[in-house]
Amino acid sequence: MKTIGLIGGMSWESSAEYYRLINVDMKSRLGGHHNARSVMVTVSFEEIKTLQHAQRWDELGEHMTQAALQVQTAGAEFVLLCTNTMHRVAPALEAALDVPLLHIVDPTAQALRDAGVRRVGLLGTAFTMEQDFYRGRMQERHGIEVVVPQAQERALVHQVIYDELCHGIVRDASRDAYRLIIDNMRAQGVGGVILGCTEIALLISQEDVTLPVFDTTALHAQAAVTRALE
Ligand code: GLU
Repeated sequence: MKTIGLIGGMSWESSAEYYRLINVDMKSRLGGHHNARSVMVTVSFEEIKTLQHAQRWDELGEHMTQAALQVQTAGAEFVLLCTNTMHRVAPALEAALDVPLLHIVDPTAQALRDAGVRRVGLLGTAFTMEQDFYRGRMQERHGIEVVVPQAQERALVHQVIYDELCHGIVRDASRDAYRLIIDNMRAQGVGGVILGCTEIALLISQEDVTLPVFDTTALHAQAAVTRALE
């Protein structure tokens, strides 16, 4: 079994989910007291969040690279960046690492293709919804067209992520707002919705909406277990 490297803390609320999901999945595949071999480095989200909102992506690339090298030194045989947003700087990590980065878009795209979804809605931080690094990879590498909510809705989705979910706060009113936004995307002909922020599954699950949901945290964690066992 390979050792999984996790770059966590963005936020720790979702890193804890990664840790739980990876171990639950490994145990269900191997039985007994099997769990995943893993190492995690946790960064300070306050620092990261400040740099993100100042759009200081080069410095963020350096922070993420440093964390990636730490997990590599600790024995990781491949690396997961436990956040969608910070995949903005994935190329810097890929350039610095000797071991592979398991990019969050790829298992998500695979699940969409398996489900026959070629046009999908995306919820995530403003960075993920508005910049090209995420939608571009979906479209160019995987042939999946991504639809995002309109500007006001994107602002609400972003605010709920940083002000609530990343603090572990889950509010019914925010769930209702997200459901409405998902409904509006459904009207644009999407065949599913990507929970493209690793905290959104704390708020929305498949039971809350009729469109199929693609939870990036669960899909990324599951892909890690598969890779660890290859
Ligand atoms: N965990 C979130 C994501 O998947 C947001 C936190 C961050 O900005 O990294 O994008």
